[in-house]
Amino acid sequence: MNLRLYGLRNEAFGFSGLTHSCSNRVRFTSRENSKRISASAENNGTPSKSFDYDLIIIGVGVSGHGAVLHAVEKGLKTAIIEGDVVGGTCVNRGCVPSKALLAVNGKMRELQSEHHMKALGLQVSAAEYDRHGVEDHANNLASKIQSNLTNSMKALGIDILTGVGTIVGPQKVKYGKVGFPDNIVTVKDTIIATGPVSFVPKGIEVGWKTVITSDHALKLEYVPDWIAIVGSGYIGLEFSDVYTALGSEVTFIEALDQLMPGFDPEIGKLAQRVLINPRKIDYHTGVFAAKITPAKDGKLVTVELIDAKTKETKDTLEIDATLIATGRDLFTNGIGLKNLNVVTQRVSFLLMRECE
Ligand SMILES: Cc1cc2nc3c(=O)[nH]c(=O)nc-3n(C[C@H](O)[C@H](O)[C@H](O)COP(=O)(O)OP(=O)(O)OC[C@H]3O[C@@H](n4cnc5c(N)ncnc54)[C@H](O)[C@@H]3O)c2cc1C
Repeated sequence: MNLRLYGLRNEAFGFSGLTHSCSNRVRFTSRENSKRISASAENNGTPSKSFDYDLIIIGVGVSGHGAVLHAVEKGLKTAIIEGDVVGGTCVNRGCVPSKALLAVNGKMRELQSEHHMKALGLQVSAAEYDRHGVEDHANNLASKIQSNLTNSMKALGIDILTGVGTIVGPQKVKYGKVGFPDNIVTVKDTIIATGPVSFVPKGIEVGWKTVITSDHALKLEYVPDWIAIVGSGYIGLEFSDVYTALGSEVTFIEALDQLMPGFDPEIGKLAQRVLINPRKIDYHTGVFAAKITPAKDGKLVTVELIDAKTKETKDTLEIDATLIATGRDLFTNGIGLKNLNVVTQRVSFLLMRECE
């Protein structure tokens, strides 16, 4: 029997699309499918005979957390395995810190608007920011939510197992920190909720400070004078807002013929009018950032632009920094899919598994 599991960029990736008749019981879940369920503060259930747990959830971002609440509600003896920090992308490297930065920007723009301030009868001589202060504001908010999330799961009696989780065989999962002996637990069902990571196109070398992804940008370790943002999806757009509010100039590089190609056209038009046109933002559309060389030995970052259709070189930008915002890719490395005979085809789009 073939079992097809579709990745984040396709459609269903949760319980409903899967058949459960295979002996290695694995389920995938992603945020798109997770439902908010209020779990009662009952204790973690008693496991079915002969297993340590009824359910193990590998990865605790919002998807894993949704699965935890559902499992508690169903009275399943449940453990989570988290290889990094509870809360995953959204809490630590996504929605939460990015919205914290956007809130700062909103205030900055308000203070910078002489006209607006005058209308309120206020006089502000110069709005300035402290980079560390802004960074701390975003980090503190993320830490607070992360700790609330951890405490709420502890209160529900969930076992929090720390380290990278790997499925080693049917109904067996190992976990452990690098350099420490592995622990192996037996489990009836496993949910993989290992989420996405930043997708970096081939040939682009990401390095701290000058060629970065949103993971680095959210730390706000550097506010460049001029930054190219490769990709004009929602992440690129959010960062154009962050950087321009803090004084940077932004150049978008977009492979398709228009900015924000993935947006609803009406929303795209509105975003262009309100968030792009009035700001220090220019753009190149219909081009790929083919080769990006990080800043080195006093030289700037170079970005070679090629025509998306003809593949001819169109321009080379010399710029302070480049943010790669070309989307997110499903993360399945190291979770042991091979041990279950899962074959990945076209990474992040389609997974196919043959079950005996
Ligand atoms: C800058 C930015 C802004 C965003 N803003 C928004 C927004 O405003 N609204 C919105 O809806 N979405 C937003 N998103 C998207 C949102 O953050 C993601 O869709 C969501 O976090 C995905 O959740 P997840 O639980 O599927 O994966 P994740 O949150 O990535 O969680 C997966 C977890 O699995 C862990 N893990 C991976 N492999 C293993 C392993 N082998 N063993 C143990 N643990 C493992 C990881 O450490 C991680 O904690 C944003 C994303 C970014 C990058």
